[in-house]
Amino acid sequence: MKAVFYEIFGEPPHMANLPDPSPAPEGVVIKVEASGLCRSDWHGWQGHDPDIVLPHVPGHELAGTIAAVGAGVRRWRVGDRVTVPFVGGCGRCPECHSGNHQVCEYQFQPGFTAWGSFAEFVAVDYADTNLVRLPDALDFVTAASLGCRFVTSFRAVVDQARVMPGEWVAVHGCGGVGLSAIMIARAMGANVVAVDLTEEKLSFARELGAVAAVNGRAGDVPAAVREVTGGGAQVSIDALGHPSTCFNSIASLRRRGRHVQVGLLLGEHARPPIPMDRVIAHELHIMGSHGMQAFRYADMLAMVETGTLAPQRLVGKRIALDEAPAALMAMDRFDGVGISVIDRF
Ligand SMILES: [Zn+2]
Ligand SMILES: [Zn+2]
Repeated sequence: MKAVFYEIFGEPPHMANLPDPSPAPEGVVIKVEASGLCRSDWHGWQGHDPDIVLPHVPGHELAGTIAAVGAGVRRWRVGDRVTVPFVGGCGRCPECHSGNHQVCEYQFQPGFTAWGSFAEFVAVDYADTNLVRLPDALDFVTAASLGCRFVTSFRAVVDQARVMPGEWVAVHGCGGVGLSAIMIARAMGANVVAVDLTEEKLSFARELGAVAAVNGRAGDVPAAVREVTGGGAQVSIDALGHPSTCFNSIASLRRRGRHVQVGLLLGEHARPPIPMDRVIAHELHIMGSHGMQAFRYADMLAMVETGTLAPQRLVGKRIALDEAPAALMAMDRFDGVGISVIDRF
């Protein structure tokens, strides 16, 4: 199969011809029809993710058609149209039994713990627990764009922050995660404040339903958010993953507010300073959001099918697989608006 391949962290990835994968006993092989490009793929290529063993094929936001099925798989057949959350649970550990596959101790992540979807085929383990059937009306490109950023934002807004109608939600960073969070928070009836450094992204955030925008270049972000929200947001999300956006998000909250960390903090940014004095004095809540369980897709897809959520609006560039090495290397530049998706293999 054709795939994007690297053997050394930080050296340019290249196109390679690799053996086609075969399914694990409880896994499937998926013919990839679309694969999103994500900053986590860039972090992985830089060597920031300890799960990656070289050599490697990146890619974790995928949708496609099942091409082969392991002997122990019960629910799936060749030809089924599917996607997967980027974190797959084993289905049999205490976390999985409690319904929290997204923090499974034995989790499977295509593109991190195994070879990923910047390829014609990808093997996915624990298929009965983790595959999601695509509604007929949902195209592969939109389905792929859900895999990491949209579902993690859905979990952040709906299941972790439990956003209520009328609450203020501040979203720091308007890349794929932030724009997803804005769309979802708006659909939940919240008032959204978007924060970014570029006017282009802030104006797109307004189109997606943000009622206010703060340009971080203008100065004190937490003060600006407190001003717009009349004392601070009930919910604030660091959708970028940087020590300054993490700090600003927490400092943007009103008393008893909830911060959700969605943007990854890796490498030198892994342990950012946090205003813990304020966390105590104002009884702030700090949570993470790490993917979403496959069984939670049903509610989200119902909102997509009715048009309440329109993730296809977040899809930016569509590229061919052989353009992916250059696009991957450029992921740290935050160019363009929306999610880039590989749709030709
Ligand atoms: Zn598990
Ligand atoms: Zn991702």
